Amino acid sequence: MTNDQTPPPNFIKKIIEDDIESGKYNGRVHTRFPPEPNGYLHIGHAKSICLNFGLANEFNGFCNLRFDDTNPIKEEQEYIDSIKTDVRWLGFDWDDREFYASDYFGQLYEWAIKLIKDGHAYVDSLSADEIRAYRGTLTESGRESPYRDRSIEENLDLFERMKKGEFEDGTYVLRAKIDMASGNLNLRDPVLYRILHAEHPRTGDEWCIYPMYDYAHGQSDSIEGITYSICTLEFEDHRPLYNWFLDELDIYHPQQIEFARLNLTYTVMSKRKLLRLVKNNLVNGWDDPRMPTISGMRRRGYPPAAIRDFAERIGVAKNDSTIDFALLEYCLRQELNQSAARVMAILDPLKVVITNYPDDKVEYAEAVNNQEDPAAGTRQVPFSKVVYIEREDFQEIPHKKFFRLAPGREVRLMHAYYITCTDVIKDENGDIVELHCTYDPETWGGDSPDGRRVKGTLHWLSAAHALSAEVRLYDHLFTKENPDDVGEGEDFTANMNPDSLQVIAQAKVEPSLAGAEPGSRYQFLRTAYFCVDPDTTPDHLVFNRTVTLRDTWAKVQQKSN
Ligand code: ATP
Ligand code: MG
Repeated sequence: MTNDQTPPPNFIKKIIEDDIESGKYNGRVHTRFPPEPNGYLHIGHAKSICLNFGLANEFNGFCNLRFDDTNPIKEEQEYIDSIKTDVRWLGFDWDDREFYASDYFGQLYEWAIKLIKDGHAYVDSLSADEIRAYRGTLTESGRESPYRDRSIEENLDLFERMKKGEFEDGTYVLRAKIDMASGNLNLRDPVLYRILHAEHPRTGDEWCIYPMYDYAHGQSDSIEGITYSICTLEFEDHRPLYNWFLDELDIYHPQQIEFARLNLTYTVMSKRKLLRLVKNNLVNGWDDPRMPTISGMRRRGYPPAAIRDFAERIGVAKNDSTIDFALLEYCLRQELNQSAARVMAILDPLKVVITNYPDDKVEYAEAVNNQEDPAAGTRQVPFSKVVYIEREDFQEIPHKKFFRLAPGREVRLMHAYYITCTDVIKDENGDIVELHCTYDPETWGGDSPDGRRVKGTLHWLSAAHALSAEVRLYDHLFTKENPDDVGEGEDFTANMNPDSLQVIAQAKVEPSLAGAEPGSRYQFLRTAYFCVDPDTTPDHLVFNRTVTLRDTWAKVQQKSN
């Protein structure tokens, strides 16, 4: 992994280019993003979204949004809505191509009947446990079900009665008749339909039999005329089955291509685990800014362009790997450095009284909004006799390499004046409560006409004008690079970071931030990037720390080189 300009590998592009050259799909490129609406999307899904929509854009093709809604027990409208919001927010559009596997339940049923009539499917009376036991293992072949040789008539009759709702859940299943001795377990008479008397978010109680994922997926691809059915590596062993259905049904045949899923350090990405965090209140909902969900990252302040850039940089490969979280943060900083307005904010305020400054005077310092973007212009920041600086910008007995404020020392207040510390005021416990300083009136704008140099430049706020704000600082949700690395009897939650959220109730920010809209992103100068949280109200500003300023990616690279 590099952060130079070398294009990352993407073997799928090569396949498409070759197909276009040979005319395989008449130059057509049609992909789909097929989420199951059983949770919110995460950064791994973002990789798949960027890949599928990105290929369609690049090759002038189309990408469908298809909900793989074949399991009504776990699926909800809330998830469907959130998925649509997230894909759009990432910057992609499916136009009118919003599809649902459930739209095809009728067709899939017809095809199941064809398989039965052709002798390729049968109704089995074994229980789920028995089917598992009969299935065999990787080293041991499976056993055929005693019901495998039911007549076609009996199969048709039972399957129709399954559909009509005559039987209880679990009494019968429809299975493909392939090969119980196959070296590939997916071909050992996989289940096609099971009975589920459950209300479906879209089809209601119209159906009480539901197709299995493997049976629905390829046929849905075929119906939609998909050319490349791109999925993650664990489906490689399912490809022979994907092909078997399309061949036996003799219908249009898309090509399944597998790629390595995204894994990221310090986080988990299985929807089951994310659901667990949410349901057990171990985080504050799906959009908790510590979650690897797209909604969490949005709330945290990640710009969609940074996520797209990340997806581009990690590339698309055939072998599994784990990406360092620092690379994602590097992408964030790259993007935010270009786009985020700079403002001054003080997280841990220390009061400074400028003793020789007139009591009621206010001056306005002109501050550049973003030195990377001249079009962003400037703003006026009020300056007055009492200012706040960051407590850590003062040391009473300065360390050797500390060049900021100390007794007797002169520093620059950014865009304003040079000040010199004259007195340190302490309370009865000996804690510093206030500094007294003098300013040099000749240094307005932050420059000395006599060329006098100072080593430290501090950000500051006029105490009379500063706004109070709540600031939420986030760290990794887990303390280990691999959260699944646990001891006996523990699970991933044992590795949760108890310090992943730190709330600063009384920070101070510039008055220009009054009325800042949720979602607006800023660089608090010298501190970090922040984003306005939706919890903000007209009289209570809340900021989320998106990412710190310090790049750790360069260091990670050095280590690995
Ligand atoms: P989980 O295993 O957590 O339940 P899933 O893969 O079943 O997730 P789906 O909703 O089926 O979730 O995923 C939709 C699409 O996103 C699939 O094509 C899947 O391959 C892809 N996807 C899911 N997770 C990742 C990941 N970590 N990296 C890349 N693509 C992913
Ligand atoms: Mg899935």
